[in-house]
Amino acid sequence: MSLTSDPAAWVRSVVEAFCEGAENALYPAGANGERAWAEPLVGFSGGADPLYEQYREYVGPFHWTPLDVFGLAFPEVDVRPEELTVICWILPQTADTKRDNRAQTVYPAERWARSRIFGEQVNNKLRAHVADALNEAGHEAVAPMLCPDWESRTSERFVYASTWSERHAAYASGLGTFGLCDGLITSLGKAMRVGSVVARIQIPPTPRPYADHRAYCLFFSKGICGKCIDRCPVGALSENGHDKVKCRAHLNPTTSEYVKANYGFDGYGCGLCQTAVPCESKIPTARDVEGHG
Ligand code: SF4
Ligand code: SF4
Repeated sequence: MSLTSDPAAWVRSVVEAFCEGAENALYPAGANGERAWAEPLVGFSGGADPLYEQYREYVGPFHWTPLDVFGLAFPEVDVRPEELTVICWILPQTADTKRDNRAQTVYPAERWARSRIFGEQVNNKLRAHVADALNEAGHEAVAPMLCPDWESRTSERFVYASTWSERHAAYASGLGTFGLCDGLITSLGKAMRVGSVVARIQIPPTPRPYADHRAYCLFFSKGICGKCIDRCPVGALSENGHDKVKCRAHLNPTTSEYVKANYGFDGYGCGLCQTAVPCESKIPTARDVEGHG
């Protein structure tokens, strides 16, 4: 397909081809060829989608709209929000990584810790690759997470936040809704990571098959489940949600010391609340809760 006749399919093929290539590696180049990520999902939202203005109020006034980040990258280009598209992808954890992390009760499995560090490096390459492909095709594009101005911020509501939340962009792009643990539950589950690019290109938005930002979480939709609460080794999850301070303290130094001592690289990770739960690999139903007793 061509970029002009079907830009959505063209972008999707760029993401998919990258994930099928040698760059998508969980181990150093040539070590064993194991992939960092399974087959991706891709979604789109419009640069003028009112959700992005709402994020500024909801996350914090520092949160960028697509127009903000595009303007930082291309200050010389005069553009309207309607001309922009946010491209998002979901990189699901592989079956092997999920299987290994399901067996853990305190620390991350080695594959999980590798995906957090080396898999995220793959995601960074993918961000750059998608932006480069669009720029080369004549459509200015920027990966917000690679923008030098991207930074972490503190938020009254979210405690830790940033100038661009890829999970919120993915929600806007029809890819999933939030769970009790703050993770995004997608059609391939919550054990995944997100990437995004903002580009001057017209692509029809992906329909959002949900009316509520927590629609896929059984705790909010049906008042059941809460399995992620039991998975957290440090009590960072409760019916009141996600205690990010406790969670972060577990990630660093607890898991970072463990990863260094046991797996031999500088890293960290956890993801216990993303594995061995009904929403690990799918949008859960009430029946799935029975299998996670
Ligand atoms: S494990 Fe259950 S309560 Fe926790 S996010 Fe998933 S569906 Fe929601
Ligand atoms: S990532 Fe780990 S520490 Fe953080 S909430 Fe999930 S299970 Fe708890």
